[in-house]
Amino acid sequence: MTPFSFKSLRSLLILPLLMAVQLAFSQAEIKEIRVHHHGDYTRAVIELDRAVNYRVRNYSQQHEMIQVEISGVSSGVSTVQLNSSRSFVSAHAVRYEEVTKSFRMNLRTINPVTTKDQTLENPFRIVVDIYRDEEAVSASDSASESSSNQPRATPIVSNPGRPGGWSRRIIVDPGHGGHHGGGVGRLNGRTVYEKEVALPVAERLERLLKADPRFEVFLTRRQDVYVGLAERTQIASRLNGDLFVSIHANAVDGRAAQQRARGFEIWTWNPTANTSAARRAMERMENEDPLARINQGNNQILTSMMRDALNTQAVESRRVARYVHQVAIRDPYLRNNDRGIDKARFRVLEIYDMPSILVELGFMTHPEEVRMLFSASFQQKWAQIMYDGIVEYYAATDPEFPRSKNTPSLASSRN
Ligand SMILES: [Zn+2]
Repeated sequence: MTPFSFKSLRSLLILPLLMAVQLAFSQAEIKEIRVHHHGDYTRAVIELDRAVNYRVRNYSQQHEMIQVEISGVSSGVSTVQLNSSRSFVSAHAVRYEEVTKSFRMNLRTINPVTTKDQTLENPFRIVVDIYRDEEAVSASDSASESSSNQPRATPIVSNPGRPGGWSRRIIVDPGHGGHHGGGVGRLNGRTVYEKEVALPVAERLERLLKADPRFEVFLTRRQDVYVGLAERTQIASRLNGDLFVSIHANAVDGRAAQQRARGFEIWTWNPTANTSAARRAMERMENEDPLARINQGNNQILTSMMRDALNTQAVESRRVARYVHQVAIRDPYLRNNDRGIDKARFRVLEIYDMPSILVELGFMTHPEEVRMLFSASFQQKWAQIMYDGIVEYYAATDPEFPRSKNTPSLASSRN
């Protein structure tokens, strides 16, 4: 097995094998991380006490970051020496994952960049050189009529809650997309799809989170494209998310049920399928993943270790769900149409390294609710509820989360 492929193949089958291999060897220790700017490139140096496997991924085009991932390390480091305001790196975040013995460092890049990496010996160092991607920069400059070709002098964003790191990173997942429309409804004589509700609500939530310096936000899709369920969870892990929020709308079969079924529901992951027949039908709908090979066969076996990791996240996920739910039922309509919090084995919520919730905003198949789901006011209301719920969750459970988005420590570090 090549050491570089296991993250991208973050499949349920490879994880235990990987861990067995890693446990067989003693782990490396990271001594120091330095980031300096030299002339036309920025160099990141990671010094360790022995050779390790690593991988550099360049997401600078889409997500303004590059990621260095190191496997087989005994712990992470919390500080990164980041010097020079001319650096192509404006901020960093580090994370150590005990379960996989892996360390990830994300470097926020100011412009699209290219990278070159190498290793040096005595002591062992991973050296990543970061160059401005002139082609991509000039293309985007002419497209956006941006006046400045220079890197912006963005200060280091340091969040007091996470040593050397960023703010809480929310991965927003608009359900379905492309040929996979999700639940189907009728509105003004037209056939409408769940995917058309999920995306604008996700974008509204994104705008709210973006306006708050305590958060970073990424969407798993921005267009009407198909993204597989496993791919969504991989995106979330790759981006080092702190919380995953999947946005959906519900649907039922049968004319009588369609007149009756309405309201919202919040879901968290559970190792076994839901026992109610109606809920199992919904679980099937949300788990449908036509292109996924990994998820074919609906009863993938989880090892006890994977189950433990997922169960740990599930406990936290239920807390998140309770906060969002608590905010939602302040709204009179939602209070009257509250289907509660429940759990089921949703594939898209099978994420090992962050809590995750799935929100069913309402029913595509209900004649009144479908109208609401497509209205700007209802979409904005839901975005605000999820935003408020996330803020309240962190405020109540995370002592290091700034109480106000205008907190002085955040403001001063961004001046
Ligand atoms: Zn759905």
